Amino acid sequence: MVSFSFLVAITVTYSRHPSLHGRLYNLACLFSTLTCPSAHLPTHCLTYPVDHRKMMERSVLSGSDDFSSPTHLACQHPNLEVENPEIYKFFHHVDPIMCRQEAEWVVVRGSVATITQKAKEKHGDIECAFSEVLRNGDNKVKRGATTTTHDTFTFTTTDFYTVSCTAQDGNTWSNTVAGIRQDEEIKANTGWDKVPQDSVHLNFLMIGFDSLSRNTFIRTLPKTYAFLTKDLGGHVMQGYNIVGDGTPQQLLPILTGKTELELPETRKRMGNKAQFVNVYPFVWNDFSKNGYVTMYCEDAPHIGTFQYRLQGFDAVPTHHYMRPFYLVTYPQHKEHPRLCLRNTPRHKVLFDYIHNYMTVHKDRPKFAFTFHSELSHDDFNLISVADNDLLALLTSLRDEGHLNNTVLVLMSDHGHRFTSIRSTLQGKQEERLPFLALVLPPSFKAAHPSAADNVRMNIHRLTTPFDLHPTMQDLLHFPGARLGQVADRGISLFSQIPASRTCTDAFVEPHWCACLKWEPINVEEDMVQRAAQALVHYINTYTASHRSICQQLTLSQLLWAGKLLPTKGLLKFKKNMDVDGFMPDLTDETSVSEVVYQVTVTTSPGLARFEASLTYSIKLDTFSVKMDDVSRTNKYGDQAHCVMKDLDHLRKFCYCREPPPAPQDS
Ligand SMILES: [Zn+2]
Repeated sequence: MVSFSFLVAITVTYSRHPSLHGRLYNLACLFSTLTCPSAHLPTHCLTYPVDHRKMMERSVLSGSDDFSSPTHLACQHPNLEVENPEIYKFFHHVDPIMCRQEAEWVVVRGSVATITQKAKEKHGDIECAFSEVLRNGDNKVKRGATTTTHDTFTFTTTDFYTVSCTAQDGNTWSNTVAGIRQDEEIKANTGWDKVPQDSVHLNFLMIGFDSLSRNTFIRTLPKTYAFLTKDLGGHVMQGYNIVGDGTPQQLLPILTGKTELELPETRKRMGNKAQFVNVYPFVWNDFSKNGYVTMYCEDAPHIGTFQYRLQGFDAVPTHHYMRPFYLVTYPQHKEHPRLCLRNTPRHKVLFDYIHNYMTVHKDRPKFAFTFHSELSHDDFNLISVADNDLLALLTSLRDEGHLNNTVLVLMSDHGHRFTSIRSTLQGKQEERLPFLALVLPPSFKAAHPSAADNVRMNIHRLTTPFDLHPTMQDLLHFPGARLGQVADRGISLFSQIPASRTCTDAFVEPHWCACLKWEPINVEEDMVQRAAQALVHYINTYTASHRSICQQLTLSQLLWAGKLLPTKGLLKFKKNMDVDGFMPDLTDETSVSEVVYQVTVTTSPGLARFEASLTYSIKLDTFSVKMDDVSRTNKYGDQAHCVMKDLDHLRKFCYCREPPPAPQDS
């Protein structure tokens, strides 16, 4: 008898990867959770530890000795090259999605589905049956009434219908479609007349993607990025830092202003103790109550942010909620071409739904958050197939005037979390710096110039998901531009985020903090002396072509030196150790390939005082410096008189050979 033995490899992907709230959960609970069925958990483990808040604060505070910088910004972010070969090697071209060739028989525009003329010309008269897809909790749908038509069908009872069509020539077509229903109740309860007096009277549209670092967004969605930053004048937040591991750990602070541990227990495996996530104070509730038509969409139902590990929604959370659509279509994916629903790329179905929502509710206040995972969650490159369609969506939103009164946010929850990229220092840093861009309508900039200036200023400040919550709340009740307070965990992006804000202030645990830490070093150290000499050399090279008027400088004194390094936690963080991500594994040894030194020096003649950062490549044993980043921190005054007029760029660096002209007597 032949016996076969199968080796079954089970890969468990902890998608929407749970949080790592540090040392917040006691070990006894943790190991019970891992080894016992939930019914046998010690009762004290059934809810989060009572003192979790204190424990988290302690964890955050453990980073409080991190930062002391001679420059103005407490949080210095690493300068991460988009084309760094160490990372860039993971990126490659992806061919466009190829769906079926035949055009769809039924297209949806706004609230109306139409059987296309083209299909009728090809197949003769077509009869389509539209069957309601109705929500039945967060994990099931019910089939409702069916209506047949030969030309158009208006959505009234639901946003989602399964359509089956038969043509005169015997051909058939079927699909599940999404549109924005004409809903009398929504019409009665929403409208600009219902929004608060002190609101900014703007829509809010946030389009999110899973697992895209800021740099990967730039690498994989270049057309969208260019349009967003150049055509729309979007502000890309360079210091936007994650506050935990995984999707819920970013989305909860954004949508509720709180961490999972500060919210009621909703973890599925806690059985009766777990409530539905409706108990969370979602920000869209405030908008729903104040005249807004709300929408929340997420495309990957099997790893839903609020359904994978958590209990999901009982009552429908927002006016438009796409989960029933995905519950029907997700199991059918294999019947369609890869990444398509019939002839339409699946990401475009979501983009079209957003567009339909904006169109149907054009004259009503809108609050929408959509989150796409399918293309970006498990792959570095695949999201690039959506670049043209995302660009087209944004272009049409602009051209149709939607962006005239909408705050548009493009964001991602965190960077890529794959081992290959995580094993590099830049990969780790990129993971902690996801994409966040804000596009403000011109009317807002005109009405609130200081708030708009603050957003611009905050581009280089340390920001976190916690800040988005008060930002959205500001739209509903606008308090004007303010000075943010470091004591506040979340600071509206319309307020000025203090330059002194550190990860500790922002409630970011040290191993998530991408800010670099200045470590002062003794000025006698060899490397520092070399860095200082390198700086003087660069300055001399810069003025060399004008040596006839500018003197060569020599190092006079080295006043201060520091080394800019990632936090120890970041270098040591390897992965989560448990299903909820409460225990970090801090055993990694990430190698550092570059060190940034900062030196403050004086040069002679003239005792100019310079402060500069120099990047030292360990591999090449060389220093480099960007001349733009060299600051002259004392007055050059008359010393630079010979270049004042025509050689602007040399003012900081030139000590003129000729003495300054004597003052003229008047
Ligand atoms: Zn995620």
